[in-house]
Amino acid sequence: MTTQVETLEFQSEARQLLQLMIHSIYSNKDTFLRELISNASDALDKLRLEALRAEIPGVDVDDLHIDLEVNQDPRTLTVRDNGIGMTREEVVALIGTIAKSGTAEFLAELRNADATTSSELIGQFGIGFYSSFMVADTVTLITRRAGTDEAVRWESSGDSTYTLESVAEAPVGTSVTLHLKPVDADEQLHDYTAEPVLREIVTRYSDFISRPVRLLVPAADGEEVSEPTVLNTRTALWARPQSEVSAEEYAEFYRHIAHDWTDPLETIRLQAEGTFEYQALLFIPSRAPMDLFMRDAKRGVQLYVKRVFIMDDCEALLPEYLRFVKGVVDAQDLSLNVSREILQHDQHITRMRRRLVRKVLSSVKDLMTDRPEAYATLWTEFGKALKEGLLNDPDNREEIMAICSFDTTYSSSEDGGEDEAVKPTTLAGYVARMAEGQEAIYYLTGESRTAIESSPHLEALRAKGLEVLVLTDPIDEIWVDAVGEFEGTPLQSVAKGQVDVQSEEEKSAAQERERDFADLLAWMSTSLGEDVKQVRLSTRLTSSPACVVGDAHDVTPTLEKMYKAMGQELPPVKRILELNPTHPLVVALHDTYTATSGSEEGEAERGSLAETAELLYDLALLAEGGDLSDPARFVRLVADRLRHGLSA
Ligand code: ADP
Repeated sequence: MTTQVETLEFQSEARQLLQLMIHSIYSNKDTFLRELISNASDALDKLRLEALRAEIPGVDVDDLHIDLEVNQDPRTLTVRDNGIGMTREEVVALIGTIAKSGTAEFLAELRNADATTSSELIGQFGIGFYSSFMVADTVTLITRRAGTDEAVRWESSGDSTYTLESVAEAPVGTSVTLHLKPVDADEQLHDYTAEPVLREIVTRYSDFISRPVRLLVPAADGEEVSEPTVLNTRTALWARPQSEVSAEEYAEFYRHIAHDWTDPLETIRLQAEGTFEYQALLFIPSRAPMDLFMRDAKRGVQLYVKRVFIMDDCEALLPEYLRFVKGVVDAQDLSLNVSREILQHDQHITRMRRRLVRKVLSSVKDLMTDRPEAYATLWTEFGKALKEGLLNDPDNREEIMAICSFDTTYSSSEDGGEDEAVKPTTLAGYVARMAEGQEAIYYLTGESRTAIESSPHLEALRAKGLEVLVLTDPIDEIWVDAVGEFEGTPLQSVAKGQVDVQSEEEKSAAQERERDFADLLAWMSTSLGEDVKQVRLSTRLTSSPACVVGDAHDVTPTLEKMYKAMGQELPPVKRILELNPTHPLVVALHDTYTATSGSEEGEAERGSLAETAELLYDLALLAEGGDLSDPARFVRLVADRLRHGLSA
């Protein structure tokens, strides 16, 4: 029987796409193998599905595999599967034309694009089978549809035509033979007959393909084929039932993808079925990477499509504040060449991301109750990053608030002794301990716990036994303002605005003192001039003479310093000076002022009183760890006073 060779024309769009492949504007040529293996893997899945529905004569679905066969002379690489195969009509329809919608528009766009953009565009479009022409001069495909007897041979050199002929005998499935272009490092054409090269590509892109990808190398005599080597590990843990995967297997996989040598702190799995299927296998590491707070810190989630590795560091899957989470998301219904750009705008991905975020947050919540020690580790390592979510993810703010912990002045030891290690508290924990009548969650921000604890702002609250959150991370300055409250209880800085911790009696006593001090306060305001916004009596001081505070919406000194460190000068923020009316120094200042007011010699005294006011202000600044505008002048004034003290 003589077989007739038919020559057919590629559909015009297919021809254009082929030309693009041959002149390969797509730089990553190795991906052709991923495409062919992926097609083969799909063909195996289709055959298995079909065999499930009805038995297909002569087909064995127990040994589905993909073989890579190499030959040196001529240099060829064959990708062979024993999957579903194609009929003659299917070959014409599927390989000779491009049925994708939007192809024409895509090609039009491509014509107007520069080299880099076109490379990106083609990646997004999906390069598929035609990518073979990036590495091969001629491609031969032989296929036989399962359940049929006729096999067909397709061949093309990538010009406008291809040939088709029937072949008498061929196994069920498809083989694609690439007549390889010469190796050319500049063109990123590697030696696709070399085992290490193939192994590398398979490991990189197709390791988790569920069927074996085997390498067959002809033995030296050219006749026998050596024992096949399986190149892929095939362990798609996320696709196996959770109960069947051991903790050790998860840990091993985590170490592999995270390049870590410790065990993960927590393993999170998520399985979504329905219109957009995906599986996620995520890990929370047990320690923070060095680059967690670097500008270009990588995100840890890889995207797979149907077991095929697509990209690392996939920012579309989890928000930045969860960048410490590692793992894999495997989506069933995406194109293999989906780009970052496309992912950002895909509705399904947006929904998936929302679900992943919620899952991670709820897993952390579970840790809090089930494994408090693990949660404590997580908080120490990643708390700072998580808090970014309070600012950047308003939709999940409540959930994030619920899993945050903060240092506090509260100590669980009986006497509140200093030695007892102070455990961080949740906001819920704080609220549960709130005193009767307490209407706000008090906090104080600062550079360190020591600085905050010695701050005069804490005095009255401490005297009343009120708990204050000790916030020392730079981000704390920002989120507290943005968030403002926790489940209806306002967050209030004890260094800002008026802190209302007084009883009714205390209040009326305070009002009386206010009248008494009114003249002094007004005079001091003028005397201190530019530096301060207001001088008033304090309700927060018990042992210090004075402190400086801000208005509720003022930029705090710590924040001011942060901006300065980033090279951004803010306009100077005027502070409020608060005096402690019970402190002997303030009492004496008041007495002297009242005694000398209105008299001639009193005017002479004013100069010295003004210096005292200035010193009080400087002391208050120093007490909160602030900087003096004129330290030399401060030293001179203090030295003067000390000398006076000695000679008196
Ligand atoms: P895509 O895989 O994105 O659909 P391709 O150009 O790679 O695009 O392949 C086109 C079609 O050809 C596939 O959808 C599939 O139906 C068919 N095909 C390709 N390779 C094989 C194969 N090895 N076995 C069976 N069918 C195949």
